[in-house]
Amino acid sequence: MHLYEEQKIQIYNTLSGKKETFKPIEEGFVGMYVCGPTVYSNVHLGNVRTFMSFDMVFRYLSHLGYKVRYVRNITDAGHLENDADTGEDKIAQQARKEEIVPMEVVQRYTVDFHNILNTFNFRPPSVEPTATGHIIEQIELIKTIIDNGFAYVVNGSVYFDVHKFNETNDYGILSKRKLEDLIHNTRALDGQSDKKNPQDFALWKRAEPQHIMRWPSPWSDGFPGWHLECTAMSTKYLGDNFDIHGGGMDLKFPHHECEIAQSQAAKGQAPVNYWMHANMLQLNGQRMSKSTGNVVNPDELLSGNNDFFSKAYAPSVIRFFNAQSSYRSILDLTDDGLKASEKGFHRLMDAINLLEELQTGDTSTFNISEWRQKCYDAMNDDFNSPILIAHLFEAAKQINQIKDGNASITSQDLELLKKTMHDFTFDVLGLVKDSDGDTGTDKLAAAVELLIELRQQARANKDFALSDKIRDDLAAKGIQLNDGKDGTTFTTN
Ligand code: AMP
Ligand code: ZN
Repeated sequence: MHLYEEQKIQIYNTLSGKKETFKPIEEGFVGMYVCGPTVYSNVHLGNVRTFMSFDMVFRYLSHLGYKVRYVRNITDAGHLENDADTGEDKIAQQARKEEIVPMEVVQRYTVDFHNILNTFNFRPPSVEPTATGHIIEQIELIKTIIDNGFAYVVNGSVYFDVHKFNETNDYGILSKRKLEDLIHNTRALDGQSDKKNPQDFALWKRAEPQHIMRWPSPWSDGFPGWHLECTAMSTKYLGDNFDIHGGGMDLKFPHHECEIAQSQAAKGQAPVNYWMHANMLQLNGQRMSKSTGNVVNPDELLSGNNDFFSKAYAPSVIRFFNAQSSYRSILDLTDDGLKASEKGFHRLMDAINLLEELQTGDTSTFNISEWRQKCYDAMNDDFNSPILIAHLFEAAKQINQIKDGNASITSQDLELLKKTMHDFTFDVLGLVKDSDGDTGTDKLAAAVELLIELRQQARANKDFALSDKIRDDLAAKGIQLNDGKDGTTFTTN
């Protein structure tokens, strides 16, 4: 008996605009695709939030016993600077700035992405395909779309014919847009464009002479369109119709709308049964975005080295903060919010540690089975992690009462309580128990404070050789002590 047979999940499906009971195509198996990063810069915390939300979905589905094939791609070509069909390739542009070749950019930021994911205890996806590794599949897909009459070739580029597609299909089915409104709201073509209509989008672009990232194709030496990559990679590993497709809310249109159109045009069927969209992370009330510069990178938050936050925060505290709101809500990253999460995280860890020392009795004053089901109900309700955390805190309260002798638990119930607490905290939420939850930076600060105190004592004892040694040796390690009228502080470089 698998857990998924007794725990039925409801997923909010963007396609229908409501929660639906999740039924995988093949019982016991789930195919899930999530759009991965475009590896032209360091990932910011907004990106991390979206991937973290889907990591939790992956973890919960796996916990229920589903065999999940989780595909998350790497976009390493074809994503142009304004997310549309004009402008420079984001990766080529970065390569020019850094005076390296595009594949060095790809390598540099793919490594950064993986390091960040490890730091935050992500589970690796089952397949991590790259766009440049699937050029052949993309060319084949374009050929089929042309053969089916939904794309046209102009000057070596291939465009998807949105108007033709909409005659027999619904372009806008996901984002709830109407083609007439799109026509009304877009500027007319400027005469320079090869497109028949401004709503059409590129499947293949002929490369200009200066464009470095190029591949041969039947139409030109060029490169694939960004939307096409995801259709080629998702269907290759998950089939023409698969269970779940995820990504950030900002990808719903046009990216995901175009994915649906491409699949429908090539294969005559809708690619995805459940479309899931994670909401945006904000900083100071505004969406975190590289283009506006309103960003904090993970290492800046983890080291405390930034202009926004009063201190450094541990990866699990950031994970906990993220899980304290639903993946579908906008989340504002604030110092107060992080501080509150840090307290909450420690409270939860303290309760889990206490579980090891509890005395058991003849009766249980807390109904563990009922409580356990409430935890599952929370996650079954569209992965409602904040409600789950409320239940974990309820258990923490009970654990403290048992410790204080104000409540009791049988040994059998204690085992179930332990297992459930561990399952949800570590397996599902992906939190990591570190000795005290402190970051390396916190520990460094504590050690330097101690040395400052010893130096003070040395001075009071007129042992200037020792006090100077402490100051000079720390300076040699890049830690400067600054004596001021309110005492000594330190800076690192
Ligand atoms: P990109 O590398 O720009 O394609 O983005 C990678 C993922 O991060 C996509 O799923 C985006 O939707 C997501 N994303 C970008 N900005 C934010 C943000 N501020 N909050 C949450 N997710 C974001
Ligand atoms: Zn995608």
